[in-house]
Amino acid sequence: MPGDLAERAVVQKAKPEIRDGFKFRAGHVALDLAGTLAARFKPSPRELLAHPSDLGRWLIAAEMTDAMPEVTQTDVALARTLRESIYSLVLARIHHKALSDEARRALNRIAAEASAVPQLGKDSRIRVSGNTPGLLASIARDAILLLGGAVSKRLRQCEGESCALLFLDTSRSGERRWCSMSGCGNKFKIAEFRRRQRLNPTGSKS
Ligand SMILES: [Zn+2]
Repeated sequence: MPGDLAERAVVQKAKPEIRDGFKFRAGHVALDLAGTLAARFKPSPRELLAHPSDLGRWLIAAEMTDAMPEVTQTDVALARTLRESIYSLVLARIHHKALSDEARRALNRIAAEASAVPQLGKDSRIRVSGNTPGLLASIARDAILLLGGAVSKRLRQCEGESCALLFLDTSRSGERRWCSMSGCGNKFKIAEFRRRQRLNPTGSKS
């Protein structure tokens, strides 16, 4: 049936939230980069961009580039600086706090570098050509447009307990609360269900 086909096409188009071990739930590449320090609020956060090859894999998983780019340890340090700047500035925007000068300057500095160039392929796909600092400069520019534009009203931090992920709320209502419905959203629903059961174990309606 045509309806089924159309539905299947939508399902096929939806990209997995986790690609090559990295989470892509944020709806914006700059916010996905911010999520590469896992368990940020826990006593021992996990660095997902530990080695140059990690950053190369992330750039491919983020669809910033098709082929493994050359990545140096300096590029890794640059990516982490960009990531921490984005995280700090987005949190400040969400909570209506003053922006850190250090983070703002770092973001602007990285964005001012020569950025990678998007090219349109025959298949209508975008391919970005450029070196790793160029790809990071592109992300920094996108982050500036995100932070300084009207869309910044839709920046959110996941409400999941101890989840530090940031995301862009593109829902119609603007009331999205979790980085992922199947992750933090589901955990919340289960916790709510248990809480209600404890309050009303017989399940009787009052
Ligand atoms: Zn979450």
